[in-house]
Amino acid sequence: SVVLVTGANGFIALHIINELLKAGFSVVGTVRSPAKGKILDNFKSLYKNPQLVLEYVPDISKPDAFDEVVKNHPEVDYVLHTASPFSFGVGDDNEDVFVKPAVNGTLGILNSVKNYGHNVKHVVVTSSCAAILNFDKFTDHSFVHTEATWNPMPWDIAKTNPELAYCYSKTVAERSARDFVAKEKPGFTISTVNPSYVYGPQLFDETTGDLNTSSDLINQAMKLPHDAPGPFTEPANMGIDVRDVAIAHLITLQNPEKFADARLALACGYFSQQLFLDVLNSRIPELKGKIPVGDSAAGKQYIAENVLTYKFSKTEQLLGVKYISIEDSIYATAKQIVDYESAH
Ligand code: NDP
Repeated sequence: SVVLVTGANGFIALHIINELLKAGFSVVGTVRSPAKGKILDNFKSLYKNPQLVLEYVPDISKPDAFDEVVKNHPEVDYVLHTASPFSFGVGDDNEDVFVKPAVNGTLGILNSVKNYGHNVKHVVVTSSCAAILNFDKFTDHSFVHTEATWNPMPWDIAKTNPELAYCYSKTVAERSARDFVAKEKPGFTISTVNPSYVYGPQLFDETTGDLNTSSDLINQAMKLPHDAPGPFTEPANMGIDVRDVAIAHLITLQNPEKFADARLALACGYFSQQLFLDVLNSRIPELKGKIPVGDSAAGKQYIAENVLTYKFSKTEQLLGVKYISIEDSIYATAKQIVDYESAH
């Protein structure tokens, strides 16, 4: 089968493509430009004859952005839409930076598939826990976040801060996708994968020098001077390893009927910046003495008091995957950075 993957050069997308190729799927990937696609040449070192072609979609915000690609590849059976801007601060216009590409990109690919992707059976949209979490309920532990909860924050509040604007963009993009399917009744089903903060190794070492937003949070903790004043609390949230995020996308395609309309919320545990420090200090000898020790017990207490409650058992049952632990995920991220920096 053939899978179209948007945002093919992204941190998560590269792992997804790796799983797809390993499982015998052929991949059509979209990237913004040939320069952005360069990283995918590395698949030639992993696979003898990788079944992978690239197409260029410079701006996913543009209506009809995906029409040509979908028209050019009538053989596509499945679509994984991962492309969406993720950062915690660029420019001033949070609507142009986040909301337009997220929403137009999602509706754009669905429209193109509806109009021209006559062979497509299932589309997976990479959404986020950002679309699930209710920021007013973080310290209310009687409120359990599940696959059925939605981020209710209005744009008036979200637009004031890039982090909140990003969360809003993911929420509206996912809602738009679900509304699209309910209204248009296209000839395919959809599901969403909603990861929490994604950590774990870069598929190819070289992107370690230019880290995606979530992985860079661990990198920032690794660069704290040893006498930095605590407390090392934020960010504090839930996380999941990129290898499990990729497998969740793969499993969905291997049994699309089972996953029609599914919302797969992925989290393997809680972290705070203190947990990064705990893992770095105990497992990466190169960093010992260079970074703060902090206060491990205080970190745990902070999480217990300030981080939301969640129960994603529906997803766990559907996927049946034993997730990599948050500590192992943090370790793998940091170890690759240390090794890369010592070699460059
Ligand atoms: P990356 O930044 O590594 O990848 C994002 C991808 O989207 C890149 O290919 C990027 O292209 C593309 N993209 C972003 N904006 C545009 C645009 N305006 N036009 C065209 N392409 C665009 O991030 P991740 O791999 O972490 O994220 C992938 C998906 O997973 C996103 O949908 C994100 O919201 C979601 N997600 C990520 C989480 C995380 O913690 N990492 C958590 C939950 C969800 P380019 O490289 O050219 O900018």
